[in-house]
Amino acid sequence: MGRMKIERAKVYGFCPGVRRAVQMVEEHLEQEGPLATLGAIVHNAHVVEALERKGARVARTVSEVREPTVAITAHGAGQEIYEEIEKRGLKLVDTTCPIVKRAQEAARTLAEEGYTVLIYGEEAHPEVRGILSWTKGKGYATLSPEDLPELATRKLAIISQTTKGRTAFWQFVRDVLDRFQLSLDDVRIIDTTCPETGRRYEAAKELAERVEAIFVVGSRNSANTRKLADTCESTGVRTYFIESAEEIDPAWVAGLSRVGVTAGASTPDEVIDQVIEKLARLGGEEG
Ligand code: SF4
Repeated sequence: MGRMKIERAKVYGFCPGVRRAVQMVEEHLEQEGPLATLGAIVHNAHVVEALERKGARVARTVSEVREPTVAITAHGAGQEIYEEIEKRGLKLVDTTCPIVKRAQEAARTLAEEGYTVLIYGEEAHPEVRGILSWTKGKGYATLSPEDLPELATRKLAIISQTTKGRTAFWQFVRDVLDRFQLSLDDVRIIDTTCPETGRRYEAAKELAERVEAIFVVGSRNSANTRKLADTCESTGVRTYFIESAEEIDPAWVAGLSRVGVTAGASTPDEVIDQVIEKLARLGGEEG
């Protein structure tokens, strides 16, 4: 029998926005020294600890910052945070993902043009709270149109949390129009969803359909890694959701000829590489 084939999903791991944010923080640490990040730069304890050792401390609020510099994460932040940073005279490393920035800009300009801005997203999510803040009180965030109050407006704009799926966003738009169309005469729809999240699920599914077992690598508290594992499971393939290479039990791959590996958007490259190395030691080869 030949060696077990190990195949990586076509897209996996850090998205370009998170990769850029980590890079910006690392560059600052190397060139200018310690800083505080407003919340974790990536939802992964491994990355956060590694950055902490190099001088990036996590602060929950601007008032907790003791360093001369503060970094806003890829999720972005509301207008009041920028004002507070300026008031305190802190230097800013703004790692807001350009796609999130676009959603914030849309929220700001639409609100200025007199639209009530509806955001399809989770109200408590930091990205959504940030986008909402740019509407200066002229916005709502929700996942379901039934939860909305009667809107005292004829001008409505609809945008999305970036990590929501396109199909779900457009369904939301239809539901909103079903509920409010008779009271509206000016509607703007801007699809601010990010294609990166969807690409990871599609690639995982495509791979899951071709292998005997698939390893989904990421933190157990990462919602998108959990969803990735669910996507794989839904194809019927044996799915192992693991945080690191150590968790792999050799019995899981005994006798298999093809396994797949994918990872959530917050999983760093080295953790994925360690999983591949472990599978190779258990008789596999990439290809
Ligand atoms: S908007 Fe897309 S690219 Fe940017 S941080 Fe979010 S998932 Fe990553």
